[in-house]
Amino acid sequence: MEQIFTGNWAFMFFGLIFSITCAQMLVVYVLADSSKPPAGLGLYTVYFMASLLGWIALTLQQTADMHMAVDVPSVMIILNSYILFMAAGQRAGNARGRILLGAICLTACLCEFFLPPGQMFVVQGSAVALFFTATGILCGWRGWLDRNIGDAVIAYAALMMAVGMPVAIYIFVGTGDHAGGEAAAFGFHSVAYALIAIGFLASVVIEYQQHLSNLATLDPLTRLLNRRGMEDALQISMAQAARRALTTSAIMVDIDHFKGVNDSFGHEVGDHVLRQVAEIITRSSRSSDVVARTGGEEFLIILPETELDAARVLAERIREAIGQRPLLVDFQRIGITASLGVACIVGSMNLDDLSQEADRAMYLAKRGGRNRVASVEHKPVHLSNPAR
Ligand code: GH3
Ligand code: MG
Ligand code: MG
Repeated sequence: MEQIFTGNWAFMFFGLIFSITCAQMLVVYVLADSSKPPAGLGLYTVYFMASLLGWIALTLQQTADMHMAVDVPSVMIILNSYILFMAAGQRAGNARGRILLGAICLTACLCEFFLPPGQMFVVQGSAVALFFTATGILCGWRGWLDRNIGDAVIAYAALMMAVGMPVAIYIFVGTGDHAGGEAAAFGFHSVAYALIAIGFLASVVIEYQQHLSNLATLDPLTRLLNRRGMEDALQISMAQAARRALTTSAIMVDIDHFKGVNDSFGHEVGDHVLRQVAEIITRSSRSSDVVARTGGEEFLIILPETELDAARVLAERIREAIGQRPLLVDFQRIGITASLGVACIVGSMNLDDLSQEADRAMYLAKRGGRNRVASVEHKPVHLSNPAR
């Protein structure tokens, strides 16, 4: 490699990279200590550490004029790009392409022993562009799925490298400007590294924030909303119902003799039943309906803009679906039934009042013998003015 740095710039640059990596390591160290470390933390740590080693090797090579039998920075860059691809895959929960790209990585590294520096630059640039393209796809996909801008920043850095490396190769080979090609590659690597460091931290922070928000609004067992999540989700429907005097219905679902299921087959089987019932309710309801697990074996469905009769039809469908799906435990069929209560309210809707009405209806169904649907109609009482 020809001289890229002039004067003390190498040390200033190295100081910058060193500071970024140290700050990154500090955060990573704290995160690794948590009960649920973020996915991909291990491999991203290896990537940041190996990058630092690569920069040290490059700085020594450039400034101390240290002779290296093998171009260590070049091999480190190839290896590191592959490690980044694996880290992105681990974070996205996708291990596809590891073996193929691993073989390419090994071949590219071995080329270092056979090819002259000029050709090696092309091999290195091509391998790096390939690994970064794969990284960009994984991070872009994860960023899109999880709505995580941190992953999108890494995807942007990867895209920049995927375009930047061919540009550097073109400058190096096409125009014959070796120093220019190397400087371009160096510049792209530096910017990408800083963006990846920022993107990874942002991704982890956003993931934690989403996790906390989920804890507050989602039921961990069934992944349905909890009571608070339901209140949040209903804000707009409640305002619309009040403004346009719309009918809102509610269905309360309570599994029959659920304590008996737990006592006879264990808590694990009980949990399985809860997940199964949650799935049946979710599948049966419309996307505009809001479904929540509001108690141990109780589920509440709020149906905006739905009359009582339509809600009763849905409740009956859910009751039948639950009854038709017995659970198989040790080749034994466990029949599950549920009692459902339906209620409705017109205009301004108070979730507590509506759910209490549905609860009242559900108890009527229990008293009526269970495995049935009962409904109550909430009729506002209009009192006329007493005659004077
Ligand atoms: P009923 O037909 O009158 O509704 O009777 P029931 O047995 O379904 O109702 P009860 O209120 O007596 O019992 C509810 C049971 O639900 C008791 C509790 O152990 C169980 N339960 C509550 N939360 C969970 C949970 O998260 N998992 C499991 N497996 N069981 C739970
Ligand atoms: Mg109950
Ligand atoms: Mg019950």
